[in-house]
Amino acid sequence: MTATIIDGKAIAQELRVNIAIATAVLTEEHGIVPGLAVVLVGSDPASEVYVRTKSKAVTDAGMRSFDHKLAESTSQAELIALIERLNADKTVHGILVQLPLPKQIDSAVVLNAVDPGKDVDGFHPVNAGRLATGQRALVPCTPFGCILLAKKIHPSLSGLEAVVIGRSNIVGKPLAQLLLAENATVTVAHSKTKDLPEVCRRADLLFAAVGRAEMVRGTWIKPGATVIDVGISRVPGEDGKTKLVGDVAFAEAKEIAGAITPVPGGVGPMTIACVILNTLRAACASAGLPEPRI
Ligand code: NAP
Repeated sequence: MTATIIDGKAIAQELRVNIAIATAVLTEEHGIVPGLAVVLVGSDPASEVYVRTKSKAVTDAGMRSFDHKLAESTSQAELIALIERLNADKTVHGILVQLPLPKQIDSAVVLNAVDPGKDVDGFHPVNAGRLATGQRALVPCTPFGCILLAKKIHPSLSGLEAVVIGRSNIVGKPLAQLLLAENATVTVAHSKTKDLPEVCRRADLLFAAVGRAEMVRGTWIKPGATVIDVGISRVPGEDGKTKLVGDVAFAEAKEIAGAITPVPGGVGPMTIACVILNTLRAACASAGLPEPRI
């Protein structure tokens, strides 16, 4: 059996088109142009590429993009002062602080300074608490994208056995909360889990968010399961260059799984699409409007 390949790039593109349509309606009917401020401190080349990609996605959707590029030597106080200005700015509906931050800055202090209503990364403890208690929240973009991909295969996740490998605050934990909200039966595995292959073999839905190249073998997968691979690792390729791989041994897994995301081209493009979706959601919530229908 060869798995259906879940084309995250195409699904994200379709989502971005729908977000652009909903944004145009919001602007026309309510005079609101959603705005996203992206704050980058320092000049990490990978972060610069990511920020440029996000800014383009924002403007392509008919939103405003406000880029703030600060020097590597920026103090925590200076960064917090900028966040407070953005919190007060009515044209800014979403604030995204690119991580990692330089050593002199405590990321938790900075992320906690973002207005929870503008926290499009969904990292603020208020949003984490709202998600955990089933209230309207801005939820982290990568797990949000994972759920949207899983629902392309299973329109209802209710009653399915879901296993999430990884328990980080930005992926594993919020993903588990989102799956619970979808009525899946959820197991969260991590580095101390005993007999991880056996735990994974229970999963109708297997999510890998570890960061260890091709750790999940084909034999760990229940035949016909849906596999969503969040991991990104750079490894040496056959041609002497490097290549990106996920946490799942794709060539083996696609022979056993029912559906699987590739790396690259799976979860990654969905993360960006969900940043702009969260910006739209934040803009609607700030005006007291219901959730946009996408
Ligand atoms: P993280 O904070 O390093 O968390 C990794 C998790 O994996 C931890 O919970 C850890 O367990 C667990 N783990 C480590 N080794 C393990 C093992 N041998 N067996 C089982 N579990 C193990 O990483 P993250 O930020 O969640 O990111 C995970 C991966 O997703 C990375 O490759 C990252 O680059 C990628 N990512 C991709 C996107 C995207 O847009 N595609 C976005 C975010 C992240 P403990 O808690 O016990 O240490």
